Amino acid sequence: MSTGIAWLKHLSKRRGRKIFYQALRMYRFHQTPFEDIVSNILQTTQKYGASFTFPIVASVATQKPELLKQIIESHNEIAIHGYQHVKYTLISTERQDADLRHAIETFKHLGIPFHGFRAPYNAYGPSTPSLIEKCGFIWDGGLGYSKENRTKTQLFRISQDGRELSFLCFPLDELSDDLMIDERNYLLQDMKIALRRRIDEARKLNGLVAFDLHPIRIGQPEFIPVLEDLISYGTNVGGWFPTVSQAIERNLAKSDWNGHEFCCLLTGDIDNFYFRDYLKRLY
Ligand SMILES: [Zn+2]
Repeated sequence: MSTGIAWLKHLSKRRGRKIFYQALRMYRFHQTPFEDIVSNILQTTQKYGASFTFPIVASVATQKPELLKQIIESHNEIAIHGYQHVKYTLISTERQDADLRHAIETFKHLGIPFHGFRAPYNAYGPSTPSLIEKCGFIWDGGLGYSKENRTKTQLFRISQDGRELSFLCFPLDELSDDLMIDERNYLLQDMKIALRRRIDEARKLNGLVAFDLHPIRIGQPEFIPVLEDLISYGTNVGGWFPTVSQAIERNLAKSDWNGHEFCCLLTGDIDNFYFRDYLKRLY
């Protein structure tokens, strides 16, 4: 029995069946090497001139700097997803600050340009937004997931203590890959229809729609057709698929979507490259 399976059995006893099945699914997904996952995504986006933004955990980024360089060189964006994949809501402001700074130093050391941040688990404590501002990030990609923000249709800023913070946020749609695949057990066709519906809504409002599609799921050969359908349909009906930073730069300068009817941001976090690191996260 492999060490991975032994861990899973142990996990099932300790944490229950839901976690067990989730881990089993991740075990299966991790049989596809991350090089293939990223290559599947990049081949699909490049076919349509689209870009993808990958928030990556900095301690994980150090394991495959070459892969990250490949992502950057093919006109995609990388953002910071913490140094460790920890819930910022459970740690002190000082520890959040230290985690952010450690992540920034690591990215600088690796020579990876970055402008944006998304908190691990999309979990933001009361002091997290001001830390994001203090660190000089241009955008945040997770605050837009909260119930009051996810239905917005344009870029926005948040306020704290009566002051508007400097970085930009975007609404992050509820339809994530984990919701569709793990929780709702959608078939490929259900996923395609649901995503197309969101595209149609953004188009009607000349707005912005952003998705959280984790590479570990959407980059699998079985789910790549869903990504392809989303981009192919979206570009056909007049959508622009830039990186988050490109969308922000253009929208701030010209208040439009680069001459397109609407904008669609494809984002997806890389939390770990290996199944053993996924398991560590559960403990
Ligand atoms: Zn994450």
